[in-house]
Amino acid sequence: MSPQLDIVVVGSGPNGLAAAIVAAAAGLSVQVLESQPSVGGGCRTEELDLGVTLRHDLCSAVHPMAVASPFFERFDLTGRGVELSRPAIAYAQPLAGGRAAIAYQDLHRTVGELAEDGAHEGRAYRRVMAPLVDGAAAVRDIGLSDFREIPAGVLKPAGLAGAVALLGRTLELGTPVWDRLSRAPRTGALLTGVSAHANVVIPSLAGGATALLLGTLAHSHGWPIPVGGSQSITDALVRDLVGRGAEIVTGCHISDAAQLPPATAYLFDTSPWTLAAVYGARLPAGYRAAVRRFRPGNGVAKVDFALSGPVPWADPRLAEAGTLHIGGSRADMKRAEDDTAAGRHSETPMTLASQPSVVDPSRLGPDGSRPLWAYAHVPNNSTRDMTETVTTLIERYAPGFRDVVIGSRCIPAASMSEHNPNYVGGDIAVGAVSMYHMLARPVPRWNPYRTPVDGVYLCSAATPPGPGVHGMCGLHAARRVLRERFGIRALPDIGPTETVA
Ligand SMILES: Cc1cc2nc3c(=O)[nH]c(=O)nc-3n(C[C@H](O)[C@H](O)[C@H](O)COP(=O)(O)OP(=O)(O)OC[C@H]3O[C@@H](n4cnc5c(N)ncnc54)[C@H](O)[C@@H]3O)c2cc1C
Repeated sequence: MSPQLDIVVVGSGPNGLAAAIVAAAAGLSVQVLESQPSVGGGCRTEELDLGVTLRHDLCSAVHPMAVASPFFERFDLTGRGVELSRPAIAYAQPLAGGRAAIAYQDLHRTVGELAEDGAHEGRAYRRVMAPLVDGAAAVRDIGLSDFREIPAGVLKPAGLAGAVALLGRTLELGTPVWDRLSRAPRTGALLTGVSAHANVVIPSLAGGATALLLGTLAHSHGWPIPVGGSQSITDALVRDLVGRGAEIVTGCHISDAAQLPPATAYLFDTSPWTLAAVYGARLPAGYRAAVRRFRPGNGVAKVDFALSGPVPWADPRLAEAGTLHIGGSRADMKRAEDDTAAGRHSETPMTLASQPSVVDPSRLGPDGSRPLWAYAHVPNNSTRDMTETVTTLIERYAPGFRDVVIGSRCIPAASMSEHNPNYVGGDIAVGAVSMYHMLARPVPRWNPYRTPVDGVYLCSAATPPGPGVHGMCGLHAARRVLRERFGIRALPDIGPTETVA
């Protein structure tokens, strides 16, 4: 009989791999069990033939969270050979009339170009963002924390100023205050577009906080695109883990605790609903009821395009944009998000797009063909193919777009869970994003990672700090497992070494 393992991780997304690496670096024996044939969860890139064969990101494509994450800082992505390429334009909002609102990585350039549309626009963006960018370290530390302990840097004067600015601006952007007081519609649209990453109604505190965290990171760290696609991040994590002697088993779907090999602790990089199904009546009724109350959020439908050339944006500056939030004005986006939340398909759904070849020529195909990554907000579990809707929407801001489309494919929201069981009904956040559920994620417990079953922990995006490729849910969970199950208090060094670089 093989010796009992120290740790089994179920699921190989960035959080599962992060938790596994921390455990393996602490000298523990680790096995990762993954249901899919490939490793990486929401951080995978695959070759698709959409009339021309190109590499497309299956889920995540743009990585402000990874570049800012304390986990990846310790892991040292760059030291592992992962090239994070930063577009000059972090995010942009195409607008009616042809001229877009643009957030460059350079805050001064952003303010300057917004001011060309009216001095008040530049002033409004600077007023919101400059104090956050000055306190970016604190904003990052809060945004990627476990929302239980106050990060040390926040208690220093600069950190405190950043934290106060974050709170104040969240209350402004995340409530009707912005709509009542703001006289800067282009800036409002630009900032509201970023809040779309939360896939919630507008305004909402969670959407406001998401916009401000990601907006701050745009100017402090950039919104990088990994050369070769998101897979390069997963490949670096897997190389490290295997180098430390851990085993990864793919094609192994866990639906019952009896399938699990004996181990001292189990970390689930899964949805809490999967965890509840796996342990059933072994979980107390109160915990199961709390997990049931934690509901999936709105869905997304993924649309991948293969293009023969660049998108013919009406505003030629957008040729440099890594990410685009396509939804029009704040009022337009509000209407669309209200529709989605009410279970209706908007005719102009909030759509996010990325142009990876802007900073990564390795993504270009023969004759300049290139991928365009997009997803649209839809009601949870929608079965609708959104290709035509998204095409029409992009065409609105890029006349002639249709002519450069070689091929496309849509993964409707209801099918998202086929390549990742965590994305129930197309909810890529693994549980609705609200301020309450950012703190009580997935259930209201002081230690949200530990479950009532002895030795069983959650480490997925369903725990704080929530969705994104940052590995921080994995790090926060692993830190607790090491302390509580193995008496290891110091976090091990997870940086590159000669054997695992
Ligand atoms: C379309 C899309 C676009 C996105 N864009 C971005 C972006 O640009 N930037 C960004 O930072 N984030 C983005 N995200 C979000 C990001 O991908 C996720 O938040 C992140 O991957 C979460 O990591 P995780 O480890 O918690 O879970 P996941 O990456 O979802 O991985 C979970 C893993 O667990 C496995 N699993 C689940 N259940 C079982 C089971 N029962 N048995 C065995 N294995 C199981 C799954 O197969 C999967 O591999 C996007 C997501 C999607 C879907």
